[in-house]
Amino acid sequence: MPASDLEDLYRDILLDHYRNPRNRGRLGAASCSADGANPLCGDQITLDVTLDGDRIADIAFDGNGCSISQASASMMTEYVKGRSVEEAHDGIQAFQRMMVEGEPLGEEYGDIEALVGVAKFPVRVKCASLAWKTLEQALSSESARVPVTTDERSQ
Ligand code: ZN
Repeated sequence: MPASDLEDLYRDILLDHYRNPRNRGRLGAASCSADGANPLCGDQITLDVTLDGDRIADIAFDGNGCSISQASASMMTEYVKGRSVEEAHDGIQAFQRMMVEGEPLGEEYGDIEALVGVAKFPVRVKCASLAWKTLEQALSSESARVPVTTDERSQ
């Protein structure tokens, strides 16, 4: 495929996620949550994750900001939902490699590949990375290590 056609395809994928975000909203019974912000661009996201053992049973994001930040959040949630926490961490690292070194992702990453062109624009890398950094923060947050049953018992 000629490079210009590929860029058009990637732009279409990105706009589709921006206009029809996947997994948008809040989760009522999240195991862990995190807020992320990219003040340079004004991007914000809030991430809720529901864990079932070491599997990400459900995930949702809410937020506002530029198309790259919001589309990336939509793609990230679509990718990690149903995967293990370990696979999510692998995804975080693979995404960072794509952003820093422009290393393409494998086919299993689906739409996320559409963000590869962002690596050429350092200011935009922060927009694209926000969702993944927030995911890392949510998974390592204190609440993730506390059993959800503690809250239920106290109610
Ligand atoms: Zn942005």
